[in-house]
Amino acid sequence: YSGKSPRALIAEELRKLRVKDVKAVPVVVREGTSVYDAVVTMFLEDVGTLIVVNEEGFLEGVISRKDLLKVTLGQTDIHKVPVSVMMTRMPNIITTFPEETVYMAAKKLIEHEVDALPVVRTLVDSEGKEKLEVVGRITKTHITRLFVELGEAE
Ligand code: ADP
Repeated sequence: YSGKSPRALIAEELRKLRVKDVKAVPVVVREGTSVYDAVVTMFLEDVGTLIVVNEEGFLEGVISRKDLLKVTLGQTDIHKVPVSVMMTRMPNIITTFPEETVYMAAKKLIEHEVDALPVVRTLVDSEGKEKLEVVGRITKTHITRLFVELGEAE
């Protein structure tokens, strides 16, 4: 017996888990995607957050359910208006990376009050500019699932 409290043991367990151990495939759209097609993609892919990438697969923005709902309050033609009009843009996107702990990712979700984080790998182009390649996503659902698994652990 290690002498550690159950809380300390759970904390230890949580800090061992990495984002790469739990991340899901990213659901992405391009900047020019219409609001209508974005809504359809959300339903078909069963996600609440879409990640917007450019033609090279680099992170450009994020769109939430409420971002899309907000657009529907105006006179907007949802077939014509692209998601780039209302998406949250770089550099304001909160991201995580494969080696980060799930604990840190969960902290970011809470502190920034968002439902999902794109998982990215940072690349530097020939001009020394940083680009974020989207390699996955992690959401509040993943954290909740982990919580349940920890609750069921022997
Ligand atoms: P909802 O808007 O449906 O409640 P969120 O709470 O995830 O969903 O999103 C709140 C706002 O934050 C939205 O405007 C969304 O574009 C933005 N957002 C969502 N995820 C991120 C992120 N990882 N980084 C920065 N902004 C985000």
